[in-house]
Amino acid sequence: MRILEGKSALVTGSTSGIGLGIARALAAEGANVMLNGFGDARQIEQLRAGLAAERGVRVAFGAADISQPAQVRDLVRSAARELDGVDILVNNAGIQHTAPLEEFPDERWDAVIAINLTSNFHAVKAALPLMKRRNWGRIINIASTHGLVASVHKAAYVAAKHGVLGLTKTVALETAASGITCNAICPGWVLTPLVQKQIDERAAREGIPAERARAELLAEKQPSGQFATPEQIGALAAFLCSEAAAQMRGTALPVDGGWVAQ
Ligand code: NAD
Repeated sequence: MRILEGKSALVTGSTSGIGLGIARALAAEGANVMLNGFGDARQIEQLRAGLAAERGVRVAFGAADISQPAQVRDLVRSAARELDGVDILVNNAGIQHTAPLEEFPDERWDAVIAINLTSNFHAVKAALPLMKRRNWGRIINIASTHGLVASVHKAAYVAAKHGVLGLTKTVALETAASGITCNAICPGWVLTPLVQKQIDERAAREGIPAERARAELLAEKQPSGQFATPEQIGALAAFLCSEAAAQMRGTALPVDGGWVAQ
């Protein structure tokens, strides 16, 4: 018996990287899944149909741009319609922009806050009434080690991710007496397109090969010297959806090779 058989999950930003790892892990446990994110329409359809066939679950896709609150609300509504509810909400979609504070473009600040933080508020607000009707729900916010500690040149990202942890705790308290839980996962470096871009930027800036830039990036922050993987984050998300995690509420769980232990 798969532990999430019959449950419905919406995972934002799941056409790539960590979100895709989480969608795969939830589908493997029997959940019907709504994917969301940007990308080539044909590739997304292949991904959708492939995951459905592989796991024998329903997989839908919603193309919402989650920087737009109305589209976030529509996404939750269409997940509920197409999958008969939203039992599991994973707020994962996120972007990065790096620049010293005085040079940080206002428009990039607004975009990072809208996508990485404000979308979580709108999605939770829209999904909570659906979860309350069944007195069961799992809200998982993908924060970051940057929700717990800062790094230079990431003002918007660090502010947004600290905000995500504040939102997570508040939602956990407001749902504490119910069957709905809310927790955050705080990944360290995971090798996804979001991080590859930072490796490429470092290689170009320092005039070094990408291989060396990757090793330097890890050495600077992650004592294990190894990337965490989307599969590992997915497995933790599936655990948070299990009954074993029913009394985990408002937590921030690092998967970071020791980054925040320092
Ligand atoms: P990624 O770039 O591989 O994937 C991001 C996903 O979000 C993609 O599916 C993309 O299409 C989607 N997306 C971006 N903007 C969107 C928008 N406006 N509307 C809808 N979808 C949108 O990135 P990732 O590394 O997998 O990151 C996923 C989450 O994990 C982010 O919240 C990120 O901050 C967090 N995170 C990543 C790392 C890491 O090392 N990769 C570390 C800590 C936290």
